[in-house]
Amino acid sequence: MKRREFLKTAGVGLAASAAVAAPAIAQSSPEIKWRLTSSFPKSLDTLWGSSETFAKYVSEATDGKFQVSTFAAGEIVPGLQALDAVGAGTVEMCHTAAYYYVGKDPTFPLFCAVPFGLNTRQQNAWFYDGGAQKLMDEFTKKFNVVSLLGGNTGCQMGGWFRKEIKEVADLNGLKMRIAGLAGNVMAKLGVVPQQLAGGDIYPALEKGTVDAAEWVGPYDDEKLGFQKVAPFYYYPGWWEGGTTQHFMFNIPKWEELPKNYKAIVTAAIPLFARKGFAGTTTRELAETA
Ligand code: CA
Repeated sequence: MKRREFLKTAGVGLAASAAVAAPAIAQSSPEIKWRLTSSFPKSLDTLWGSSETFAKYVSEATDGKFQVSTFAAGEIVPGLQALDAVGAGTVEMCHTAAYYYVGKDPTFPLFCAVPFGLNTRQQNAWFYDGGAQKLMDEFTKKFNVVSLLGGNTGCQMGGWFRKEIKEVADLNGLKMRIAGLAGNVMAKLGVVPQQLAGGDIYPALEKGTVDAAEWVGPYDDEKLGFQKVAPFYYYPGWWEGGTTQHFMFNIPKWEELPKNYKAIVTAAIPLFARKGFAGTTTRELAETA
């Protein structure tokens, strides 16, 4: 083949392959903008921060084509309505704790934390290798969401009390912010359990609307300022041996995602889930990012 003919042929070949490839590339990497509502306030760099880290990873991995805007609790919907907002399609996804929805169905806490339940490693093992993902997918279908692991706080503390607790009788009539099924257990001891989102606890504790509150552990609790208004801190939080958070997705929106975006989203999750994101782990992640 003469040089001129070769160039001509190669040129046609290149043009043809470009013509075929271009639409495929455009189709597999469309520009998508989603909104994520978090159940957590921005003051918590651990829990809130995981949404920001997730969004940053997804954007970078798609050259900015897939953008997830993150909103703290209360910016779009209150922290405890994240699941409803995703199910209804108000937003495409959320970051939340499944036990907040115990009032809708007592099955929810099983995927998050139950009294004397699994620790972090056991919970992750159950999801990755023990069938929990399948069980949760089947269960949350009726709420129009699909979920992926979104971190774990590790074992939690027992909480902050305005007055010293010296005996079981001191719990009688005590109004306590406590999450999930633990409230049912404490109610047997006379406690009046309250479900409040993280950002709403401090004002309630300060005003005395609640007498006690449990949240996570020293690192997060101090950021919310509980030690200023409730000086007695007790442990352990036997109701939260390894509290699992989830990213939840509106099912039709999830199904619409191109396969490569689904793979990127799924790959972003173990950044938090496998290591856990509480306390030092998150700071380590931030430092190595
Ligand atoms: Ca808690």
